[in-house]
Amino acid sequence: MREQVVRFLFNHTCKRDYGKRSDGELSHGPLGLLEYYHDFFGTTDNIEVMEFLRILSNPTYDDQTICPCGAGQKIRRCHHRLLKKARKHQTCRTFEKELREIMNYVAFSVEPFA
Ligand SMILES: [Zn+2]
Repeated sequence: MREQVVRFLFNHTCKRDYGKRSDGELSHGPLGLLEYYHDFFGTTDNIEVMEFLRILSNPTYDDQTICPCGAGQKIRRCHHRLLKKARKHQTCRTFEKELREIMNYVAFSVEPFA
């Protein structure tokens, strides 16, 4: 249940921020990062992006675990290739830094509960 609420809030935040952007440019800072990873992983789900970044920031992630994309496959048989491709471009440390930036951004752009 808690996870569903969080998921809803993330999606809501995403929609709200996208709505604000009318010039069609890629945003700067953490939002720009999020947009970039939405394209890269082919998703609009912030939680999914954060899960992928969490995997990428772990140098010894287990590719036998279920892929966060929701296809129900193990990573090895699903997004493995894309993750490997991402790994070529930057270090686990950088992914971790980006994950933290995105998490901060998402956490602080959610409106407080009434
Ligand atoms: Zn997948």
